[in-house]
Amino acid sequence: MAASINGVGGVGFGGLTCSTKTALPSSRSSSFRVQMSVPVEDKKRNYTLQKSQEAFNAALNLMPGGVNSPVRAFKSVGGQPIFMDSVKGSHMWDIDGNEYIDYVGSWGPAIIGHADDEVLEALAETMKKGTSFGSPCLLESVLAEMVISAVPSIEMVRFVNSGTEACMGVLRLARTFTGREKIIKFEGCYHGHADPFLVKAGSGVATLGLPDSPGVPKATTSGTLTAPYNDIAAVESLFNSNKGEIAAIILEPAVGNSGFITPKPDFLEAIHHLTKENGALLIFDEVMTGFRLSYGGAQEYFGITPDLTTLGKVIGGGLPVGAYGGGREIMEMVAPAGPMYQAGTLSGNPLAMTAGIQTLKRLKAPGTYEYLDRITGELVQGILNAGKKTGHAICGGHIRGMFGFFFTEGPVQNFDDAKKSDAAKFVRFYQGMLREGVYFAPSQLEAGFTSLAHSPEDIQKTVAAAENVLSKI
Ligand code: PMP
Repeated sequence: MAASINGVGGVGFGGLTCSTKTALPSSRSSSFRVQMSVPVEDKKRNYTLQKSQEAFNAALNLMPGGVNSPVRAFKSVGGQPIFMDSVKGSHMWDIDGNEYIDYVGSWGPAIIGHADDEVLEALAETMKKGTSFGSPCLLESVLAEMVISAVPSIEMVRFVNSGTEACMGVLRLARTFTGREKIIKFEGCYHGHADPFLVKAGSGVATLGLPDSPGVPKATTSGTLTAPYNDIAAVESLFNSNKGEIAAIILEPAVGNSGFITPKPDFLEAIHHLTKENGALLIFDEVMTGFRLSYGGAQEYFGITPDLTTLGKVIGGGLPVGAYGGGREIMEMVAPAGPMYQAGTLSGNPLAMTAGIQTLKRLKAPGTYEYLDRITGELVQGILNAGKKTGHAICGGHIRGMFGFFFTEGPVQNFDDAKKSDAAKFVRFYQGMLREGVYFAPSQLEAGFTSLAHSPEDIQKTVAAAENVLSKI
């Protein structure tokens, strides 16, 4: 499959595939404005977001920006956020009664589909016994064993409540273990909103055009060094100019927070080698890629085992969870086994553990990742073909159930490349797709996600919708 970065079951690397560009007739492009301006087909005339609009106006008085996580506010795609009422499988319904095929998947966790019956039943059973114990429970050990047996780098794990917490914890651990303070992160990679990581972060930080956040003291980021993704020479040079001072490199082994970007063939291996050579630790932030690129995460998929790993999203099956783990020697530095402090009132709570366990059980069944690979490949290829047919430069790719595309010829290998994507065109495309009943992430700097619940019919409908919208923008 041309759009596929790898074939089914293949372990490999690659850039993004691009459609060829032909000039867009100016009469077409000039007749569209950024907000809600895609012509409405007859059948779409009923599309209204009135209730969402009212709900958002009310929410604006209650919560900053009307939301509890910035990108949800739809700022980079115009219009206003859509308030969802319910989700099931690959579909979502908003409070105005509109139905969408969903490619956000709660931004990653919903890999077996939303509101899966088995997960809901298991949750109901667990709930009968209570929602939180504040003491150890057996479910924590069940999920811990599942994670340890699946993820190559993890011999011991600590559960927390979010990806942000996982990254905060793992950073403190890397600093404790090495006795060093500096870290290297990559431009456009997002590791949650803890102070030290808010330097050239992707995701919402980039979507909102905030280079950093006010309120982050310089002292907390002075040890954060950055390099462009896929640039080994830049990392080498950071090691050379900070000899013996770098505790760790942290990275998304396939990026989802600058849109979807894959590592170049030798990149992860070279990074691994550089950390070993310089006595630093390698941290894979697999909050997005864990149990998504394969059951053992990106590290299994690419065959590179880091020292430490962070997880989130999928392992909580839609409930709040994060985790960090690694070799026993390092993990035993975490309190109370060791001196590094980190704690959490709701960490390892029975509901999140239950949803995680059920989700992983389903993912372990034969053929799941092959299925994700096939449908996601068809989706991306379909969109690229539609781009070609309608005269738009689009490039994109996927690995298993994670994908992305950019409105540029590409290749997109780092954050700067990603920013070359035509943002105004993405907005027109985005709004058009909403009217067609397709819900993508409301920012082109976010990856897309498919699930086991996405049917071939969902994919066909999405591709047909994309062709329709692309022919008009
Ligand atoms: N790391 C990565 C790679 C992420 O994608 C995210 C969130 N999208 C985080 C960390 C932070 O996770 P959370 O939003 O659960 O705090």
